[in-house]
Amino acid sequence: MRILLVNDDGILAPGIEALYEAVADLGQVDVVAPETSQSAVGHGISVLTPMTVHRVHVNQVFHGWAVDGRPADCVKLAIHELVARPDFVLSGINAGANTGANVLYSGTVAGALEAAFYRIPALAFSLELSDELDFRRAGEVARKIFLAFVASQPEPGLCLNVNIPALDHGLPRGVRCCAQGAVAMQEHYQHQTDGAGRSIYWLDGRLPELDEAAVCDLAAIRQGYVAITPLRCDLTDERRLAQVRDWRWPRTFHESA
Ligand code: MN
Repeated sequence: MRILLVNDDGILAPGIEALYEAVADLGQVDVVAPETSQSAVGHGISVLTPMTVHRVHVNQVFHGWAVDGRPADCVKLAIHELVARPDFVLSGINAGANTGANVLYSGTVAGALEAAFYRIPALAFSLELSDELDFRRAGEVARKIFLAFVASQPEPGLCLNVNIPALDHGLPRGVRCCAQGAVAMQEHYQHQTDGAGRSIYWLDGRLPELDEAAVCDLAAIRQGYVAITPLRCDLTDERRLAQVRDWRWPRTFHESA
């Protein structure tokens, strides 16, 4: 089995090293990841500039390709140029959960969804932030999830977003397969003036409060469960498609009409 690892925190991040160590014995593992942190770049790709790529040896643990690009670039470049086509793509382990609206901002998720474009089954792994980010333990959790995924013979292009709850107080209570939460971050900007007198803004956001009965990715990890959400590349809102189809759209764009 060939496994490709990618992430958005950069090839030197502890999360990808832990993921490598967790799955290294399961097959041929290739690592193609951004040279620097690319958190919150979403599904961006590099089209205006070329990318530099170099081979790195990280902490005597793994060799990989460091790409001066985005997570989605890494997956594309890996598949087209750098490594043999993988059977599975694993993205992460991200430092911080990717639930709710953050799924759209996440470079970690984009790495897995990019694999789905190529019809390769993929998992995105993220670990909820806490005082002690225990990536080694998160790696063990990720390994078990991955083995169950492989055993389930996922169809080509199946992409699962996996969020692991903070592990400071013990292992997860189990797995919850649930929808992406439709909850927005509570955001504001901190306005400052820099040394040159220019206005600068820093985005500051907090995860929202949830009511007890909420069922979604964020609620699951808050309750101590691993949250698993299948994602798709097609963002079409099928229910509303039927609704807007019946609206009174212009019948023609000719001026005479
Ligand atoms: Mn990140």
